[in-house]
Amino acid sequence: MNEFETDCVHGAGGPDPLTGAVVPNISLSSTFAQDAVGKHSGFEYSRSGNPTRASLERHVAALEGADFGFAFSSGLAAEDAVLRMLAPGDAVLMSDDAYGGTFRLARQVHAPAGLGVETTDLTDLDVIAAAWPDDTRMVWIETPTNPLLRIVDIEAVSAFAHERDALVVVDNTFATPALQRPLALGADLVVHSSTKYLGGHSDVVGGFVATNDTEVGARVGFVQNAAGAVPGPFDSYLVHRGCRTLHLRMERHCENAAVVAEMLAAHPAVATVLWPGDPDHPGHAVAARQMSGFGGMVSVRMNGGVDAARSLCESTQLFTLAESLGAVESLIEHPGLMTHSSVSGTANEVPDDLVRLSVGIESASDLVADLEQALDTVETG
Ligand SMILES: *Cc1c(COP(=O)(O)O)cnc(C)c1O
Repeated sequence: MNEFETDCVHGAGGPDPLTGAVVPNISLSSTFAQDAVGKHSGFEYSRSGNPTRASLERHVAALEGADFGFAFSSGLAAEDAVLRMLAPGDAVLMSDDAYGGTFRLARQVHAPAGLGVETTDLTDLDVIAAAWPDDTRMVWIETPTNPLLRIVDIEAVSAFAHERDALVVVDNTFATPALQRPLALGADLVVHSSTKYLGGHSDVVGGFVATNDTEVGARVGFVQNAAGAVPGPFDSYLVHRGCRTLHLRMERHCENAAVVAEMLAAHPAVATVLWPGDPDHPGHAVAARQMSGFGGMVSVRMNGGVDAARSLCESTQLFTLAESLGAVESLIEHPGLMTHSSVSGTANEVPDDLVRLSVGIESASDLVADLEQALDTVETG
């Protein structure tokens, strides 16, 4: 077993055995010649399996410490494949703070097909016990959560769910395996939007599912092929390339986020900084235990409400106003009006004075200077 950094660079495979190529070939062929009827060399048709995608799947599975990995065309396609394991009448219990598109998928696609969908605060076992719907077959954890950066204790919730025969899924998009390995903490499945830190360069949309459970793996692999939401070879290549620098990027994301969080906390226009590295953050102790770094995401609640939040988002120069996160460049956004607008008016609505920052890997002092000039223009009313 190599160290994580070595696995990031080398993944699960060495150079191509045929050509010696040190990066996976982008294998565009949609079909593969067979030696005899039904006798092929591992690949038959690219929806079912493609060499470039297979390299990526081995690579990310290795990073998550998983026996099985499945790449998808988007994070939501990966989540959809996982939710399809449940049957009508089953229920899923989700974090009450999660990616807005996850709620939309569960409530507007799976619930009409018979899935029970409940959300609750997964940071408190007593609250979970009280909320536990009958027929819960799956608990859906996001940690840190998007966009409030709450921390869920993966080990404790997994133990609780397993006593009640429910599978545990962790959306590991924010932490990545560089900072957190949910399977080692007891989770059954990990999902990713590889659009974010795994890809890391804002140039590809993708998703991933990893598991150590043979039965679960067989089911997810079946849905991947049967429903067909697979990434193409170019996309698979890009995510794979991103993974090779994941360890270095995450280190700098964490360092820069710490500097930015400290600066924001000291500014009078900012009411609260939400960042799990803060010793006063309610999830700090759990984060310090289950993560090896606090990540690159920082959210703030502004004095001056929605107008101040909007104004901050529109006054930065280096921080680009855009959805998404997890890439080399810093981004800023208003979750209530952008990424999470699909949950407005629901119980999972986010506060309108909230701004979310994806802190990139630029110079920390340039990032701080940019935020300072932007905050100084904000009316705190
Ligand atoms: C972006 C995101 C998703 C959805 O992934 P897509 O690649 O956009 O489909 C799911 N979970 C989290 C935490 C995300 O940030």
